Amino acid sequence: MQALLDAAQRDVVARVADLATSRFAPRAAGYDESATFPAEDFDDLFAAGLHAPAVPVQYGGLGYGPYTDDVFTLWMMTKEIAKADLSLARCWEGHSNSQVMLAGMADDDQKARWFEGIVERGDKWVAWSGEPQARTPEQKGRLGTIVEPVDGGYVVSGTKVFATSAPAADWALLLVNTAGPGGARHAEGPVESILALACQLSDPSISFDASWWNPIGMRATVSYLVNFDGTRIPREQVIGYPGQYLKEGWQTCFIPHYAASFLGAAEGAYEYALDYLKTQNKGADPYVQHRVARMALNVETAHLWLRRVATLWESGEHDEAQRIGARARYVIEMLAMQVLDDCIRACGARCLNRPSPVERLYRDLSIYVRHDNADQILATIGKQLLGQPHDPSFFKP
Ligand SMILES: Cc1cc2nc3c(=O)[nH]c(=O)nc-3n(C[C@H](O)[C@H](O)[C@H](O)COP(=O)(O)OP(=O)(O)OC[C@H]3O[C@@H](n4cnc5c(N)ncnc54)[C@H](O)[C@@H]3O)c2cc1C
Repeated sequence: MQALLDAAQRDVVARVADLATSRFAPRAAGYDESATFPAEDFDDLFAAGLHAPAVPVQYGGLGYGPYTDDVFTLWMMTKEIAKADLSLARCWEGHSNSQVMLAGMADDDQKARWFEGIVERGDKWVAWSGEPQARTPEQKGRLGTIVEPVDGGYVVSGTKVFATSAPAADWALLLVNTAGPGGARHAEGPVESILALACQLSDPSISFDASWWNPIGMRATVSYLVNFDGTRIPREQVIGYPGQYLKEGWQTCFIPHYAASFLGAAEGAYEYALDYLKTQNKGADPYVQHRVARMALNVETAHLWLRRVATLWESGEHDEAQRIGARARYVIEMLAMQVLDDCIRACGARCLNRPSPVERLYRDLSIYVRHDNADQILATIGKQLLGQPHDPSFFKP
């Protein structure tokens, strides 16, 4: 896939790949087992000058993003990270997606303040919407936040879940709803009721419930339940105008970014399988040959889809980029899941025996692809083609 990048892009991606291979991959099993945030990995990214990928160049960052002339390098950085550790990639995505949002929605004073924190001090950011409203059978109370306007800002009370990097991040971009609980993803009501608020997570009114997070995979994302006990957000920390996140389709910038992580998991499994099968001299088996070929074709196809979407963003064809981005997200989920399946069928049971990285990738990918619902993504693509109204951000039915 080197041919898809120019020399300067290759250099940046190679630096990430080096770190991923030498530092992140060896630590991944430990973070997964203890379900702890990959703090040392973030320290390494900061020390290597790779911590501010989507902070504009004039603020000291690398300047990548969908509204610049280069988003593909960012996605390939993410892919390399995901190959080593999909949980780390989710934390990294949240951090870099927040930078994209600040670059596009924050005012100049906000940018100067928050980008300095990222570039100079290594501040970590996240973006949190998750407030699912449908209860699970075992769920006791209702999830979600209430947002009240007060003199000089807003007060946020209640809970969010799936709050990636919760105990480790410095700042969160809260997507909340003044019309009632639901964040942005699960919101009802007018679009204008969705606000983006920057929240400093050291505020004593904020607490984290780690007991909520005991999933099959993506354990090191520490995507806890967060409780806001009357958290005050001053007006200077309100980002953009009411409803901007949905009206301008900011979520569509991040939909292919998830796919870049899925691709990383797939490529990790493919490379593992190739090495495993060669070591075991199983290459003469025609079924093995088929599965190796299909894994390679899937990985290559996924790269080409991402390159296609990136080119649309980079050339300013934003409407088309948003439309095709959903297709890429759907196709790459299918391709990646098939690669994992091929890898496991070709390699056999021992590749699912710890500490095999395939065992972790399999668990991680199986929950991470649930971040959106592939059935609803496909329905959304169908609605687009049929000229029907649809939700390009969260693919709501
Ligand atoms: C590892 C991980 C990390 C995450 N990190 C973050 C993060 O940092 N920030 C963040 O904002 N979010 C994050 N998310 C949360 C994610 O965005 C979703 O909010 C979360 O997956 C919703 O949980 P759920 O699938 O259990 O529930 P639901 O949202 O209830 O969805 C369950 C299923 O029901 C479907 N559904 C929903 N409504 C309807 C309906 N009316 N009719 C029919 N079907 C419906 C959905 O499409 C879905 O398939 C993360 C998710 C994961 C898995």
